Amino acid sequence: MTGVAPGIALRLNANRPEPARTDDGNEWSYGRCWLWCGQVHTPVLWLGTAQTAGGVAAPFTVCGPCVQALHDAIWDHAMTMDRRAVARAAAAGGGGPQPWGAPAPAP
Ligand SMILES: [Zn+2]
Repeated sequence: MTGVAPGIALRLNANRPEPARTDDGNEWSYGRCWLWCGQVHTPVLWLGTAQTAGGVAAPFTVCGPCVQALHDAIWDHAMTMDRRAVARAAAAGGGGPQPWGAPAPAP
């Protein structure tokens, strides 16, 4: 979540959406999970195309537990980046969105 106003991810986190699950109506198929678990025949969700050096590409499919771990890692990253952006905006004397529960800026 880059390029957005500071505090947006922190606000959205209160209603963080759930990641895809195998029973959620998405088009899950059986195949290889390209992330951490290394399973080769498991329900997977296509997340896009992965490409490596030389232009070689493969369907980037991920199993449910790895989708959850990826979802959490991306949200953790967004929250970290957002906290830094909020701190930079505050240090620069700017107002802008503040995380929920943050004290109101002094007048
Ligand atoms: Zn996996």
